[in-house]
Amino acid sequence: MAVDRSDPQFGGEVMLSHTSQLDTLINLARANSLHYLLFGLACCGIELMQTGGPRADLDRFGSVFRASPRQSDFMIVAGTLTYKMAERCKLLYDQMAEPKYVISMGSCANCGGLFQPAYSVCKGVDKMIPVDVYVPGCPPRPEALTEGLLKLQELVMRERWSTKRRPA
Ligand code: SF4
Repeated sequence: MAVDRSDPQFGGEVMLSHTSQLDTLINLARANSLHYLLFGLACCGIELMQTGGPRADLDRFGSVFRASPRQSDFMIVAGTLTYKMAERCKLLYDQMAEPKYVISMGSCANCGGLFQPAYSVCKGVDKMIPVDVYVPGCPPRPEALTEGLLKLQELVMRERWSTKRRPA
C-alpha cells in the first residue's frame, strides 16, 4: 500500500511546516533585496529619481537600481509609453530573469493618462507586459512609489516556492 505523505501520521504536517518556513525565509531575503530596472519615460521619471535619492531613500528597503535587465528583479515603468518605446520595454522585460515583476508608475503608464487620445501613445503598460502593482497619480509622489514597492514586497512574501505557486 502506498504511503500518503500528507498524512500527519507519516510526518505530513511536519513536512508542510518545514516547507512553509523555508518559503518564508527565501521570500524574506528576496523581498528585502528587490533590485529595479529604471525605465523613466517622461515627467514621472523625475519623481522616480527622487524616490531613489537621499530624501525618500528607497535603498533602506533593500531596493537599488540596476542599469541591466539581467541584474533586475523588477522594472518600474514611469511615464508615457509610446508605441515606439513599447517595443523596447517588452524587449527589456523579456531579458529579465524569472521571477520578475513590474510596477506601473503614474496615470500615463497605467492607462495613457493625459495623452490617451494620442495615436502614438500606448493605453497602458499592461497592454505590452504583465503589471503587478499600479501606482496612481500625475505624477505620484515618492511616498506613493515607496508604497508601491511595499505592496510588491507583500506579494513576494505570499509566494510559495516549495510548491511552485505564485499568488493569484
Ligand atoms: S502621469 Fe503625469 S507626470 Fe507622469 S508622465 Fe504622465 S503627464 Fe507626466
